[in-house]
Amino acid sequence: METILVLGGTAEAVTKTQELIGENTNHNIIYSLAGRTTGQPKLNCEIRIGGFGGIDGLIKFIAENNVTKIIDATHPYALQISKNARAASNKKNITYNSLLRAEWEKQDGDNWVNVSSTLEAAKTIPNMSRVFLALGKQYIDVFQTRTDCYFVIRMVDNPEVELGFKSHKLLTGRPSTSIEEEITLLRENEIQIIICRNSGGEQSYRKIIAARELSIPVIMINRPD
Ligand code: NAP
Repeated sequence: METILVLGGTAEAVTKTQELIGENTNHNIIYSLAGRTTGQPKLNCEIRIGGFGGIDGLIKFIAENNVTKIIDATHPYALQISKNARAASNKKNITYNSLLRAEWEKQDGDNWVNVSSTLEAAKTIPNMSRVFLALGKQYIDVFQTRTDCYFVIRMVDNPEVELGFKSHKLLTGRPSTSIEEEITLLRENEIQIIICRNSGGEQSYRKIIAARELSIPVIMINRPD
């Protein structure tokens, strides 16, 4: 019997796992999360949470659970786990499939400034801007140096430690479910610039459409190679 390890943490990973469960074939599915956010999807399969302990830990997990295939459906910016999964699959000679979301393509009306890092993004913000920061909590510290700016920060869960921004508002939760809500958010907070990554996918794209509608520039942090 095949045992498939799905490396998740994205909406696409949940959809793929549901498809696999629905296939009704004789396979065992393990859905894996890093445990960065609270809550977990409702899936009719085993769900495990937490790191494996690097490549060696993953190799051990593969052996102990007779994993025959890895489906890497992690976020495009989650580099480490993908590297580890490729290396462990090679070592154990099992199948490795990557489900990588397509990048968003710039459309007419988009005003994007492409940068290659959060540091470059922080340096690129025009002086005294009101900024919408749509990045996970582990990526925002670098923006605290921009004490001239006001930040509206959206993240999935409350941060464990108090944020060190001079002037900011914290919004916890996932992206809005409609473009209108994203437009309202940007308008009400008088946002002048958005900072985000080219994550791809539908959920986070609504803010890009909202930015286009309102002619708000976007500092887009490019995907890593
Ligand atoms: P990362 O930098 O590539 O991984 C760091 C470490 O976290 C890995 O070495 C691994 O620990 C553990 N890990 C990551 N994904 C895991 C998974 N699915 N199952 C078990 N352990 C996992 O990843 P990240 O950027 O911190 O992202 C963590 C998770 O959040 C991923 O599952 C990703 O899909 C999801 N996510 C990330 C982003 C993002 O912006 N990066 C956005 C949305 C969702 P060990 O070395 O101990 O095995």
